Formats: sequence, C-alpha cells, structure tokens
Amino acid sequence: LLQIDKLSKSFAENQVLKSIDLSVAAGEVVSVIGPSGSGKTTLLRCVNFLEVYDGGSIQIDGREVGYVDTSSRKRRGEVDLAGMRAETGMVFQSFNLFPHLTAEQNVMLGLRRVRKKPLKEAREIAQHWLSRVGLSHKADALPSELSGGQQQRVGIARAVAMDPKILLLDEITSALDPELVNEVLDVVRQLAVDGMTMLMVTHEIAFARDASHRIVFMADGLVSAQGKPDDLMAEVATNERLRNFLSRFS
Ligand code: ATP
Repeated sequence: LLQIDKLSKSFAENQVLKSIDLSVAAGEVVSVIGPSGSGKTTLLRCVNFLEVYDGGSIQIDGREVGYVDTSSRKRRGEVDLAGMRAETGMVFQSFNLFPHLTAEQNVMLGLRRVRKKPLKEAREIAQHWLSRVGLSHKADALPSELSGGQQQRVGIARAVAMDPKILLLDEITSALDPELVNEVLDVVRQLAVDGMTMLMVTHEIAFARDASHRIVFMADGLVSAQGKPDDLMAEVATNERLRNFLSRFS
C-alpha cells in the first residue's frame, strides 16, 4: 500500500534522509525506531507531504505523493493536497487540536471541509469515532478541558474519521504523562486489531514489539535494520548501532 524508494531529503547542508526504502502492506502495522535526529519524523512528514522531498519516490496505492522536482517546483499534474493528506491521516506528538473548537468540532472539520460530508453525516461519523476512543461524554469539551491523553485520543479520532488508507503516528505518547500513555496505546492496539494500516514512529519499544508486525530501525538517514519484532531483536548480535540504541531501553 505504501511504497517508498530511495527517498532523500536535506535541510540545507544536513542530509537527513539519505536513501530510504520502505514498504507497508495493507493491514500491516510498522513501527519506526531509532536515535534522536535519525530522520524518523521527517520521513513521516514526507509521506504526508508536509515536507517536499528531494529525490526518490513515495507511492500510496500506486499514486505518487506530491511532486519531487524541487529544482523547478513544477507540479506533476494537479495535486489535491488536502485530499492527498486525508489519505494519510497523521497524528502528532503535540496533538495539534484547534483550541477554540470542541472535540466533536475538531473531528468534524476535515469531514466537512475536505470530505465535503453533509453536516448530519459528519456529526454521526464524529460521534462514532469519539465513542470508539471512549470519549462520547467529552464531545462538547474544548481541548483545554481535556487531559493530554484525552486530547490525543481526539487527535486519533480526527485522523481515522477521514477514512485514511494509512495512519501515520508520530511519537504520539511522547508529550504525555506516563500514567496517560496506556489509554492512548490501547486505542492504537484496537485499531491494529481492526486491520488499520499504520506507520508509527515511537520510543515505546515494548509497545512496538507487541503491537507491530514489523519494526524498522533507522540510523543516520538510512534503514539500518528491519524485520519482525523478534527477528529484529535478534539482530543486536550483528548490528552494533541497534545494540547501542536498544541497550538504553533495557
Ligand atoms: P527525534 O526522535 O528527536 O524526534 P527524529 O529521528 O524524528 O528525531 P527528525 O525530527 O526527522 O529526527 O530530524 C532529523 C534532523 O533534521 C535533525 O537534525 C533536525 O534538526 C533536522 N530538521 C528537521 N526538521 C527541520 C527543518 N524544518 N529545518 C531544518 N532542519 C530540520
């Protein structure tokens, strides 16, 4: 479903992604782990086209994401950015909810503006997803009236309500107090059981091990190792970078 080939991206002199090859099949849950600064967030932002990438390609369902010709900034045909981003629902570390809108209004916004759903249907979809993340009773609350864990669950509801082909999760528990992490991870686990295709950057190694089909270890802008969780953990014997990285979590 997601096919990334030879993806590269620099910020000025800093080549953050060197040549990333990565694929995610429909229904697969793939976690990306790696040291700080290895380019994990940048990778997700390229997939969602929040960053223009320099080279290589990203395809979702065979469709190229955005345009890559940065030298001329020419578009490859018409790119419907909002529509394309809706195919790749993204959940951010810092929640990014609109502070002046209620939980329900936050979930409805993209349904109305991007998916062009009628008001009644948008509200029904929002209510369905708020209920799925256990927040029916908070539909009318503003983000400031919600805990971090609740805000993040609204963030997840907002992303999945758009019916994306793939969900991108960027360190979604990093900003949470430890006691709030599990309620968010439980929602992600349930989505995985339901067959949602997900690519997630996480520092929760134990969670990545038990919730992912595959783990990708990034280092220095490259995929340094990847495999089924148990297979990847076995690679510590031969991969020194992976060994050093994981030793910090044990
Ligand atoms: P972390 O685990 O700390 O979030 P990461 O692996 O997600 O790290 P990125 O956030 O992708 O890493 O950042 C990789 C590198 O790219 C860093 O050196 C960072 O400073 C740089 N970088 C990211 N975004 C920008 C930007 N908009 N402009 C310039 N440099 C950037």
